Parts: sequence; C-alpha cells; structure tokens
Amino acid sequence: MNTIIEKTDKDNIDKEVILKAADILRNGGLVAFPTETVYGLGGNALDAKASEKIYAAKGRPSDNPLIVHISRVEDLYELSPDVSPKALKLAKAFWPGPLTMILPKLPCVPDSITGGLPSVAIRMPSHPIALELIRESGIYVAAPSANLSGRPSPTTAEHVANDLAGRIDMIIDGGPANVGLESTIVDLTEDTPTILRPGFITLEDIKKVLGSAEMDKALMSGIKENAVPKAPGMKYRHYAPKGDLTIVLGDDENVSRKINELVAQKEGSGYKVAVMAKAENVCRYSCKVIKNLGDSDAEYAAHTLYSYLREFDDMGIEYIYSEGFDEDKLGQALMNRLMKAAAQQVIKV
Ligand code: AMP
Ligand code: MG
Repeated sequence: MNTIIEKTDKDNIDKEVILKAADILRNGGLVAFPTETVYGLGGNALDAKASEKIYAAKGRPSDNPLIVHISRVEDLYELSPDVSPKALKLAKAFWPGPLTMILPKLPCVPDSITGGLPSVAIRMPSHPIALELIRESGIYVAAPSANLSGRPSPTTAEHVANDLAGRIDMIIDGGPANVGLESTIVDLTEDTPTILRPGFITLEDIKKVLGSAEMDKALMSGIKENAVPKAPGMKYRHYAPKGDLTIVLGDDENVSRKINELVAQKEGSGYKVAVMAKAENVCRYSCKVIKNLGDSDAEYAAHTLYSYLREFDDMGIEYIYSEGFDEDKLGQALMNRLMKAAAQQVIKV
C-alpha cells in the first residue's frame, strides 16, 4: 500500500488535506493525524472492519481497546446510554483536551473496539487538525497511538512514517504533538472516578472538579501485590526502547555517581550507552550520549521522552540510564511511562 503523506499547518489548516483524509476515513481507510497528546491512527469507530485494520496495522493485541474520538460533547449520547453529571462536569472542565472518559457503551459500539468490554473510552481532542478531521468526516474516530505495538508512541509524523508507512492510507504531518504523553484515562463506570492511566490532566485537577477521585491501585509504582490494571493496555510493556533502560533514584549526587559508575563499566566493555538527565544535572555526567530532560516540572521531559527513546533505537544504544522525577503533577505521568519503558527496572541509591 502506498501511504500518502500530506503536510499542513495547525494554525492555517489546508482544507484540501482534511477533505482527502475525511474521505478515506468515511470509506473505511486509516489516517494518522496529530493530536495534542501523541499522533493517533484513525479509523471509523463504528465500522468493525476499519477497527480490524487498525489492530492489524499496529500489530496490537485485540483485547486492548481503542479510544473513540468525538468533536462535540453531544456525541457522548450517541455512544453511551449513561452520560452521568460527572462526565458532563469533566467534559466542561477539560474538553477539548487530553482527557479520556470510560463510560458504559451503547450496542452501536462494536465489541471489536472495546475488546469485548461493556464500556467505551471517549475523548474530544483539542488539536485543531484532529478536531477538524473528526468534524469533517462526520464519523466517530477510533484512534490509538500511531505506532507499531510495543514501540514508543509517536510524537512526530516522521515517527509514524517509520513505523507505519506502507501499512496505512495516509499520514497528516501537522508538526510535533505538544504534550508528548498519552491522555489521562478516567473510569466513570464505578462510584468513585478512577484514573486508569495518568497524563497531563492530574488526579488533583480531577478532584477539584468532582470532589473525589482515586488512582487505580495497580498503577502506583512500587506496589507489592499483583494488582491487574483496569485499562487492559496498561498491562503491556509499552513505550519500550530496544536498549536496556534502568532508572536510578536518590539524591542528585548519589544518582550521578551511580550512573557514571554504570556508564564506565558498560562503555569499558564496548557497549553503546546513553544517559537521560535533568538540565541542571547534565554537567555531572561523562557519557558519549547525554539527553537533556529539562526542568523538574517534567514538561520538557514529557515532550521529548518518546523521541529520545526512538533516537536511541536508531543509534543502536544498548544501555540507557535515566534520572527519575518527583511523582507529582505531570511527573506522575512521566514516571509511569518511564517505569514501563524500563520494565520497572529501578536502582535506589
Ligand atoms: P492508546 O490507544 O494507545 O492510547 O491506548 C488506549 C488505552 O485506553 C489502553 O490502555 C486501553 O486499555 C484503554 N482503554 C480503552 N478502552 C477502555 C475501556 N473500555 N476500559 C478500560 N480501559 C480502556
Ligand atoms: Mg498506544
């Protein structure tokens, strides 16, 4: 299959590009497009055949459900029989934006996109290209991240092309995604709203709107019991680089000493090694490849993490050592992704 790649500027959208992409979606094809979180791979959410194509193109396990993207809050009523006041409050506060809600599903939502679950994940993205495309297509758009399953999520059109060129109909290149991490997922099917995947919108943000909310216990790092995450996708080792990633936690001085020791050992044995460190600590390291994770607020780190992981793959890096972040605000989402990329491999010093 020949994949059409079209560029357009999010602040000056080329209508022709959107019309072409919308036509492909309406006809059951697949289009990758930018969102404010990461690039999504879109297909008609209510067409089971289109969703099969999404799973095949990504190599995604079929029990891992897809998020349905809408362009108007009213669309919720077409997908769920129970749009609760809590859902409407969250929509008012955070949509369009990087928040996904899990609600009971109506029968029109095919089991193939919910992995057989009785609920459906719904989001209204704020990226102008994403919104315009969904609106213009006139359909609801199932759109998981536009990467091969198991690879880091794509934050640029180039990442998408590297993974999916030849496997999908079209890629809209609208520049880099701004947040860089996937949406926050909140489950509204139980009494207490529960975050199943942390993201840019935090537990505190949601509590401010709803009063109470909690984090899925299985997501807390360091948890001992074998809790199963409620979002099926969270059990997979997503976001994985090819190299072996270890996170080193502790105070800055001990962390840099330990990482420098590990780097010296591995580089001494001829391995290709990389370090990821906060801006203020970069000068502490002696390693051939060092990536800057920015300030401790984790915003820059969220924006660049997946790009760095892909760059390391391209460079053939075999060992990666990273500093950690405090697990507050965006730091929580970032640490969740970093820990998954590291398959929970942590050294505390
Ligand atoms: P992605 O499409 O790559 O952003 O991943 C979507 C995430 O949403 C995965 O972790 C899914 O398991 C999760 N998800 C989608 N639908 C549901 C649902 N009905 N219940 C719980 N989690 C869901
Ligand atoms: Mg994904």
